[in-house]
Amino acid sequence: MSILVLNCGSSSLKYQLIDMKDEKVLAKGLCERIGEDMSKIIHKVPGKEDYSKEVKFETHTEAVKMVFDLLTDSDKGVVKSIDEIEAIGHRVLHGGTKFTQSTKVDAKVKDAIRECFDLGPLHNPANLMGIEACEKAVPGKPNVAVFDTTFGMSLGAAGYLYGIPYEYYEKYGIRRYGFHGTSHMYVTAEAIKFNKLDKDKAKIIVCHLGNGASISASIGGKCVDTSMGLTPLEGLIMGTRSGDIDPAVIQYIMKKENKTIDEVLDILNKKSGYYGMTNYKIRDHRDLTAAVEAGDENAKITLKAYERRIIKYIGAYIALLNGVDCICFAGGIGENSGYTRQALMNHFSYMGIKLDPEKNSHKGVMEVISTPDSSVIVMDLPTNEELMIARETLRLK
Ligand code: ADP
Repeated sequence: MSILVLNCGSSSLKYQLIDMKDEKVLAKGLCERIGEDMSKIIHKVPGKEDYSKEVKFETHTEAVKMVFDLLTDSDKGVVKSIDEIEAIGHRVLHGGTKFTQSTKVDAKVKDAIRECFDLGPLHNPANLMGIEACEKAVPGKPNVAVFDTTFGMSLGAAGYLYGIPYEYYEKYGIRRYGFHGTSHMYVTAEAIKFNKLDKDKAKIIVCHLGNGASISASIGGKCVDTSMGLTPLEGLIMGTRSGDIDPAVIQYIMKKENKTIDEVLDILNKKSGYYGMTNYKIRDHRDLTAAVEAGDENAKITLKAYERRIIKYIGAYIALLNGVDCICFAGGIGENSGYTRQALMNHFSYMGIKLDPEKNSHKGVMEVISTPDSSVIVMDLPTNEELMIARETLRLK
């Protein structure tokens, strides 16, 4: 009994086949440059040599067919026939307000994903393409859509409304949606399970710190607040995204630099964050900490600003939740950088949070990294969005 998880970009397709008996990955891979002159597939099976081949995929449907051929191949495959794959789970970026949970795909669901193209212009069309490719390549196989925005759907109006005229919410659905929802949902659920917390009352803060970064606060697994907004641009300082700014900055740059609004938004999405703050030198967090260690003053200030923003959010979320039981770190930086976790948690020593230096030095291990007498449990909790999608797909297929 296995579930195929697909994450489609406009010219790429990532996949994982997960055996749901023990939640082990049977195979995973990536198709790149779909629709270009030459495409490539990389197929990995644990314990076997990686397989890669240059092939021309005109469409996502051709790529999906090749994925199914490889998964059932007598040599490179991991299942005997397509029948052993029960369903396909799709990562879909934006569900608007229509979807308060993951859902089995039918014509109405596809229409709704299409209606959200404006809200997720880069991802939603590609996600829908992946769904339609599967419908063509393996007709009759159930498809389930798991939305990145679902976790944010439990925000009350006080949490999702911006301080702007209400008519824009009514007319255009302008509100906080939140992203990385699949990750926040997974980490929150695992933290409750791992620590045997009260599943209806547990107060949890999840810091998903990767290239893209966001933070969420939840009670009983339901999101109370989250840092990303209408788009993933809001909130923390990220690799290339600015996070929170005074909106008037946009007009100011437009005037001073004679730029269009689209150009400025492109700068805020792709040329800001620590990449922009270091004068377009550093976009990877490891390089940022290496530059700090080498004594680069600009890198030092950038890292301080990056940490300060996260500290402000954690502090605000502890107040909003009126306490916290568990703080979790996920994402490439959160899972691996003991330095960052310590730097952030130092600011909460006033309330009795203490990390165990030895445990905090580990990388990417799911474990409690706070001391037994810490007032709050702190965890390194590697995220697994694919597994969350597979679990949702199994539940709904
Ligand atoms: P995304 O999925 O948003 O692209 P990831 O969650 O993969 O990002 O995280 C990528 C980030 O994690 C990069 O900035 C990278 O430098 C950082 N990272 C990975 N390993 C480490 C490490 N050992 N210490 C610090 N940062 C790390």
